[in-house]
Amino acid sequence: MESAGEYDYVIVAAGTAGCLLANRLTRRPATRILLIEAGGKDDCLWIRIPVGYLYCIDNPRTDWLFPTEREPRLGGRALLYARAKALGGSAAIDGMTDMRGLAARFSRIHGQRPQPAADLARPCAPQIAPNYLGTPEDRKVAAAAPALTRRIVAAPARAKYRSQAFKPGPHYRTEEQLAKAAGLIGTTIFHPVGTCRMGAAGDPLAVVDSRQRVKGVARLRVVDASAMPWITSGNTNAPTLRIAEKAAQLIHDTH
Ligand SMILES: Cc1cc2nc3c(=O)[nH]c(=O)nc-3n(C[C@H](O)[C@H](O)[C@H](O)COP(=O)(O)OP(=O)(O)OC[C@H]3O[C@@H](n4cnc5c(N)ncnc54)[C@H](O)[C@@H]3O)c2cc1C
Repeated sequence: MESAGEYDYVIVAAGTAGCLLANRLTRRPATRILLIEAGGKDDCLWIRIPVGYLYCIDNPRTDWLFPTEREPRLGGRALLYARAKALGGSAAIDGMTDMRGLAARFSRIHGQRPQPAADLARPCAPQIAPNYLGTPEDRKVAAAAPALTRRIVAAPARAKYRSQAFKPGPHYRTEEQLAKAAGLIGTTIFHPVGTCRMGAAGDPLAVVDSRQRVKGVARLRVVDASAMPWITSGNTNAPTLRIAEKAAQLIHDTH
């Protein structure tokens, strides 16, 4: 077998995090990095056009087209779970919303213990089973959203528009009914995190420590959105960039 050469670091996946990490680590002269990306070049026309992301989703050239398991609280539906298949990763096909989440939510991340998605309880399970609306809090929030929308729409200032509820219809009233309706309508907005979550030494669900090192495995780190222990309140690309930035600092400090 032909040798790939010798490298200081091997980065698997040239996504949001992998690209930034490779860039930062190569700022040190003579640092050699092998960056491995399973997707193709980012030369698809739709990647170049901002709203083109709608044509990158569900497109076998740019999307791995992962399906979820059938989700019980989404009426048994399986969702298409878009993930980029190209240099640049999901940032190449994302909606370009750059959002800084609420500070309080970040503080809540290292003190709170998340509810694991159904399959995280089974190590090495290949399925994507997000367990949507699986917790009472999820259902409460899902029910509150259409309730708030109705309040806004019913405001006197909007009376001239004569708006009518279409989905969920007005017969959905209680929190339980509204949560159920949300499950029948809802879909993903592409921000999965937490499958290799960061956590304290005694946390049985944590895969990486606070320096992003895989617990029990030397010289291996997980640096991407999967290390977030909890979803942020905003979109996830900016926090993922920050995770990679921090990892680059930690690696520089160590080596
Ligand atoms: C359709 C869509 C819209 C989005 N919209 C927004 C938005 O508007 N704003 C926002 O902030 N966030 C958005 N996001 C989320 C954001 O893009 C992601 O959170 C972020 O890109 C995650 O970065 P990552 O490095 O963890 O993974 P990714 O950037 O997804 O990188 C993973 C990389 O791994 C590669 N790969 C997979 N398997 C292998 C393998 N076996 N070997 C080597 N490489 C492999 C993939 O091809 C991919 O390049 C969106 C995501 C999607 C999918």
